[in-house]
Amino acid sequence: GILDVQYDYDFIGRQISKEALLESGNLSIWRYLPLLPVHPDATIPPLAVGWTPLYPSRRLAKELGLNALWIKDDGRQPTASFKDRASAVAVVKAKEKGAEIITTASTGNAAAALSGLCASIQQANVIFVPETAPQAKIAQLLVFGSRVFLVKGTYDDAFDLCLKATKTYGWYNRNTAYNPYMTEGKKTAAYEICEQLGWNAPDRIFVSVGDGCIIGGLHKGLKDLAALGWIDKMPKLMGVQAAGSGYMYEAWKSNEDIHTKPPISAQTVADSISSELPRDRIKALAAVNETGGAFLSVEDNEILSAITQLARSTGVFAEPAGAAAYAGLIKAVAQNRVSKDDTVVVLNTGNGLKDVAGAMQAVDLAGTKPFRVK
Ligand SMILES: *Cc1c(COP(=O)(O)O)cnc(C)c1O
Repeated sequence: GILDVQYDYDFIGRQISKEALLESGNLSIWRYLPLLPVHPDATIPPLAVGWTPLYPSRRLAKELGLNALWIKDDGRQPTASFKDRASAVAVVKAKEKGAEIITTASTGNAAAALSGLCASIQQANVIFVPETAPQAKIAQLLVFGSRVFLVKGTYDDAFDLCLKATKTYGWYNRNTAYNPYMTEGKKTAAYEICEQLGWNAPDRIFVSVGDGCIIGGLHKGLKDLAALGWIDKMPKLMGVQAAGSGYMYEAWKSNEDIHTKPPISAQTVADSISSELPRDRIKALAAVNETGGAFLSVEDNEILSAITQLARSTGVFAEPAGAAAYAGLIKAVAQNRVSKDDTVVVLNTGNGLKDVAGAMQAVDLAGTKPFRVK
């Protein structure tokens, strides 16, 4: 599995408090600096990563028969996905190590995040993405000036090639579920959700799962808060997978051994959660099992339909992998897995403009047509 960063909570509890946070003017992940694995005097990149809005949605809550539903919109990050949380930590760690070059493989968003964060501090970087990544994500890499390799193959091929390059050239490796510090950046979303709810932890958090690093990160963040005594219940983590990329869902449902379960072949409209062998599967499974949550599986047409439903009821435009989390909530409600009294948070992990082709498919499916005039 992936190494875990461990902390001295007694010491940290003396450096940071809920009361001090109320007074903090720092509206980014760095408001939680004592809980992050970086030097207290580290040079922090200037882009504003984190502290994304948590919107209440009465309308969707009512439609689903729930009392309280919140949408956390990480499409509002600087490079428009959740991955900025991890890449912000990556560039600080790379600087600490004096690395000349940082590298990552990615389905697109982790790359765009690393690319943007590197541009903000003029850090050289090399990116490996499958050549089939959505155009917008590739455009981001090129605009930020990264050195880009478009790999003729899958994300998993790009990942293997990137690992080989790190070993050959000694580059700093940001890869998800390889670099243990990425989880530490991702956990900040759990801090924010709880703080934005006045430190009343929600009952359930829905999040889409590809490699499983985000859900593992949320779990880590919640465990930190419990260790500090800042929350008094552990939210149930609900991991949503695309049916065409359902490694975790299948393993969880059939009680398969994830140490030996072979890769699957992955195919889904939600490119960001397409993974043949989830790299952080041990932590992802623990996140669901230890919190009493569940894995859910949603079809591509349910994901596409969730894009327009979410957008039309809340004004939040998600890319397919982001909308998958909401599709998962619809399914969980239909399967009676959610009680009407539960406080539910749905995490949108990526902006809809990341994948305009996906959005147009969603609009087609909804039967919405523009009027054409001369
Ligand atoms: C990376 C990503 C995910 C999945 O995160 P994992 O850590 O791979 O499970 C979900 N949504 C979006 C938009 C992403 O970029």
